[in-house]
Amino acid sequence: MPLPTARTVADLRAQVRAWKAEGLSVGLVPTMGALHEGHLSLVRLAGQRADRVVASLFVNPTQFAPHEDFAAYPRDEARDARLLAEAGCALLYAPTVPAMYAPDASTTVAVAGVSEPLDGAARPGHFAGVATVVTKLLLQAAPDVAVFGEKDYQQLVVIRRLVRDLDIPVEIIGGPTMRAPDGLALSSRNAYLSAAERAQAPALHQALVQAANRLRAGEAVARVEADAANALRAAGFSRIDYVEARNADSLERLGPGLLAGPARLLAAAVLGKTRLIDNLAV
Ligand code: AMP
Repeated sequence: MPLPTARTVADLRAQVRAWKAEGLSVGLVPTMGALHEGHLSLVRLAGQRADRVVASLFVNPTQFAPHEDFAAYPRDEARDARLLAEAGCALLYAPTVPAMYAPDASTTVAVAGVSEPLDGAARPGHFAGVATVVTKLLLQAAPDVAVFGEKDYQQLVVIRRLVRDLDIPVEIIGGPTMRAPDGLALSSRNAYLSAAERAQAPALHQALVQAANRLRAGEAVARVEADAANALRAAGFSRIDYVEARNADSLERLGPGLLAGPARLLAAAVLGKTRLIDNLAV
C-alpha cells in the first residue's frame, strides 16, 4: 500500500488530530529527502518513542544561500515514500513551497548564540532558515516527540534551544550518526562525490577520531585542532571551514589547554565541490 501523503497543513493536522483523538502519540522526523539509512534510523527511533510516525520531506529553500545547491539537491519522492513505509512511517508530509510559505511571509526565528559560530559563520542565514522551518513543522504537526540526527550536531543544539525558549510542547530526541563501513557519515550530499573523492572522504571521520583520542589523552586543544586541520589538507580537502572542540551543550569555545567537561569535536571541510560535515563526542 502506498504511504499516505499530506500536502497541506490542513491535511496533516486532520490526520494528527484523528490519532490524538484515539489516544495515540505522534513522532515527527523532519527530512529533506534523498533518504538513506541515517534518516531511516531516526524513523525507527521515533517509532520506539511514539505510536505513529510522521516524516516530513521538504527541501527548504530558505536554508540554502543563493550560491548553494538548492536546485541541484537530489529529489526522489517515490523512492523516499517506499523506504519510509518500510521503516514504519505512517504518514509522509510533503508540502510544496507555496503551501509552506506565503508569498509575503515575513517572520523569522533567530536563535542567538548557538547559531552564530561554526556553520552559522560559514553559512550566513542557514540556521535562521532551519530554525524557522523547524518551528513551523513543530507547530503544524504538533508532535509529542521529534527526532533529529546528531550528524547535524549544531542544528540539534539550535533546535533544543528554540524549543526551550519558545515553550514548544515537544520532546526533542537526538539520534546517533549512521556511517558507512569506512566511517564516512551517511549524507544525501555524498551523492555529489566522485569515486576518487569518495575514497578520500573517510579522512574527515578519521581526523576526528584521532583528535578525540588525543584530547581524551590530555593533549592541548589548540594543538590537536591544528593537527586535525593539517590532516584534512593532507588528505585532499581544499577548504577547511572549521575543526574545533566546543562545549557540548553551549557550543562555546574551549580554552586552548586541557579539556574540562563534555566536549564535541565539530568539522566542516570541502572536498572537490562537496562540503562535508561531521562531529564526534569527546
Ligand atoms: P536532512 O535530510 O539532511 O535535512 O536530514 C534530516 C535529518 O536526518 C536531520 O535530523 C539529520 O541530522 C539526520 N541525518 C542526516 N544524516 C544522518 C546520519 N548519517 N545519521 C543520523 N542522522 C542523520
